Amino acid sequence: MFYLINLTFIIISANRVSKRKFAVQYESQKIEEGLNVLSADNLKEDKHNINLQQKTIRYNSLKEIIEELNQRLDVDFVAGKLSGIVFSLLAANKGACLLYLVDNQTQRLSLFKTKKENSGMVVKAKEGDMFDLWVLRHTSPLLVEDAKKDFRFDLDKFKKDDSRQVESLISSPLVSGQKLIGILRLDSPVKNAFSQDDLRFLATVCEIGAVALENSQLFQKTRDLAIHDGLTSLYTKGYFLERLKEECRRALRHGSELSLLMLDIDFFKNYNDKFGHSAGDIVLKNLTRLLNESSKGEDAVLGRFGGEEFCVILKGKDKKDALIFADGLRQKIEGESVTLRRERTSITVSIGVASFPPDTTDENDLVRKADAAMYEAKKKGRNQVCCI
Ligand code: GH3
Ligand code: MG
Ligand code: MG
Repeated sequence: MFYLINLTFIIISANRVSKRKFAVQYESQKIEEGLNVLSADNLKEDKHNINLQQKTIRYNSLKEIIEELNQRLDVDFVAGKLSGIVFSLLAANKGACLLYLVDNQTQRLSLFKTKKENSGMVVKAKEGDMFDLWVLRHTSPLLVEDAKKDFRFDLDKFKKDDSRQVESLISSPLVSGQKLIGILRLDSPVKNAFSQDDLRFLATVCEIGAVALENSQLFQKTRDLAIHDGLTSLYTKGYFLERLKEECRRALRHGSELSLLMLDIDFFKNYNDKFGHSAGDIVLKNLTRLLNESSKGEDAVLGRFGGEEFCVILKGKDKKDALIFADGLRQKIEGESVTLRRERTSITVSIGVASFPPDTTDENDLVRKADAAMYEAKKKGRNQVCCI
């Protein structure tokens, strides 16, 4: 009996121990699960923190970006900075960054700056591919996570446009005010290389970049207008004289020679009176074309000195060679005719030549001497070349 009671007690105890063991195992499993969830949460939190840190770094860099972009008012510099900044900040210099500018006349894209991981990579689509045309048409940012699966684009067509491998990309229009200036795009040969956050940051940089680009384009345009003559596109007198000064200094430094030609149309007032001012303008443009053609292959600087007066710097040419060049030009102009009201008309020119340094070592004096030589040619009967 005693043994029976003992056995029962032992069985009950063993049963209890095993139940407790199960309970402990169950508890420990639950704790383990809880720990797993916590570590997954931690991982998520870490990722979130890294994302936040990355965002903070990016947005803190905006001030520096503005400063960098405003360092110079030069389109090439601003475009280079802008593409360099987004390429390193958003793509870690992997894949490619393309900056397109919109041509004001044709409203077409034109590739202006490229940053690329592989220097041998060639971008064939100089006027943009279907992704760029999408951004151009919609004027809104574009994220393509997987080019093969994106229903908006027909990848077979893309392959024809460009042989580069593009699996994902972000692209944003550069808009200043209401004006679309261009497109800034990052692309990668890897899928999912960019996130929505990357696109948002690119769009923010593009907002700043577009203003800087437009400012530099306006500055360049104003500068171009100041240094180029409206009718002929040749250098204006002011800029030409600046260039002459530079070239004279260079010639002195290098111990070389240059010659200056002053050219004036003969009896141009009569021509205008007879055929009208518009016809006179055509003649001036024609003369410009001949000047450009004759100077091809020469190291020359051309300018319009005033109304019907033109000037040419011939770098590295002594007086003898400059006189040969000037007479060839004079003959070419004499032989050229413009038909007006069924009448063949032509003009002649008088040219003065002076050389630096043989005639003078002062650039203002050089202009005076070439001018005096030109008046000498007028005095001698026009349609000829003279030197001092
Ligand atoms: P010369 O042989 O002595 O140089 O005689 P010229 O008639 O050429 O000289 P003048 O200085 O008396 O007249 C220059 C003319 O050039 C007067 C003006 O009508 C003309 N001219 C100046 N600028 C322009 C222009 O932009 N377009 C046109 N069509 N004519 C111009
Ligand atoms: Mg004149
Ligand atoms: Mg004249």
